Amino acid sequence: MDGFPITYAERISTLPPYLFAAIDDMKQKAIAQGVDIINLGIGDPDLPTPAPIIERLKQAAEDPKHHQYPSYDGMLTFRTAVARWYQRRFGVTLDPASEVLTLIGSKEGIGHIPLAFLNADDVALVPSPGYPVYPVAASFAGGIPYPMPLLKQNGFLPDFDAIPKDIAQKAKLMFLNSPNNPTSVVADKEFFKKAIAFAKGHQIIICHDAAYSEIYYDGLRPASFLETEGAMDVGVEFHSLSKTFNMTGWRIGFAAGRKEVIAGLGKVKSNIDSGVFQAIQEAGITALESDDQLTDGLRHIYQARRDVLVPGLKKLGLELENPTAAFYVWISVPPGFTSASFTAHLLEKMGIVTTPGNGFGDPGEGYIRMTVTTSKERLTEAVERMQKINW
Ligand SMILES: *Cc1c(COP(=O)(O)O)cnc(C)c1O
Repeated sequence: MDGFPITYAERISTLPPYLFAAIDDMKQKAIAQGVDIINLGIGDPDLPTPAPIIERLKQAAEDPKHHQYPSYDGMLTFRTAVARWYQRRFGVTLDPASEVLTLIGSKEGIGHIPLAFLNADDVALVPSPGYPVYPVAASFAGGIPYPMPLLKQNGFLPDFDAIPKDIAQKAKLMFLNSPNNPTSVVADKEFFKKAIAFAKGHQIIICHDAAYSEIYYDGLRPASFLETEGAMDVGVEFHSLSKTFNMTGWRIGFAAGRKEVIAGLGKVKSNIDSGVFQAIQEAGITALESDDQLTDGLRHIYQARRDVLVPGLKKLGLELENPTAAFYVWISVPPGFTSASFTAHLLEKMGIVTTPGNGFGDPGEGYIRMTVTTSKERLTEAVERMQKINW
């Protein structure tokens, strides 16, 4: 081969492979060997986007006024639909023009926000285990991610008292995530109050990731971070239509909260991307304006699946909490296993794909994550396979 050697920048050459890419490799190998795989690995809704949303996209795609570059901040009509949704769902009042920003999925906004606020060696506090994008985005921006361990003894919530003073002083951003991926734990207002007090004390911007706020069970609706007094002074909340409306492939989400923070993220984005296809924003308006009709059915489906998987796993003697939100079951591995060895065991012996907890950060060692984004029949089959194999 001709050409000079290609060397990657340190910021990417030092990264481990994206967690789910590595698991996909393992899965593909098993499929190639003819194994009937049950995938409890990825949190991607398996159900289709509701029909009215698709219909709206079809109509909007025909309209030539949507064929040009969208506005950077997102259509004001979409941002207004977001503000109305916040008012209805959470009782939070937002100014759509200055306190809401359309995103190309919330991952995009989470990935870019450190560029707006971190200087070299500024610290970003990140929950660990946690969504891998938080620490990577902080590093890409030249900052230093500092893990806040989510431990069982603290109800899997960050313990702000455990953060060393010098780290708190250097911290500029803090990511929080409720309902949580990977633990499914839901933070209450008391927790958010503590977070706000800590953030105010150290002048830290809170970025709360609420991607799963609408995936809840037993009628227990999670709170928005922005509902808590003082939240609008210290940060923003990221939201997504991905999980709520089965729209992961569409790439649409938003950030809402303190206007200077929204403006900073908007400034980064206007220099990097050119917004979301307006026909998709039109479809997003349809989604946000009809949320409960479209989402109640989805919640029932996930809840019924949880009610197959969780009792099935408990009967096997596995140690886990019954999730009240999100798609995830966070399971302690049985004695004698590590996260990696139990994941491998489930795949090799039973054809079940799961995610090793340490892939979300070191404090996740000793756990694996399973998802309920698979049919009840397949979840039943997974539980049956596990019953047959002794560990
Ligand atoms: C799925 C997910 C997101 C992002 O979803 P988008 O499709 O980019 O909106 C954000 N945070 C967490 C924790 C997630 O699991």
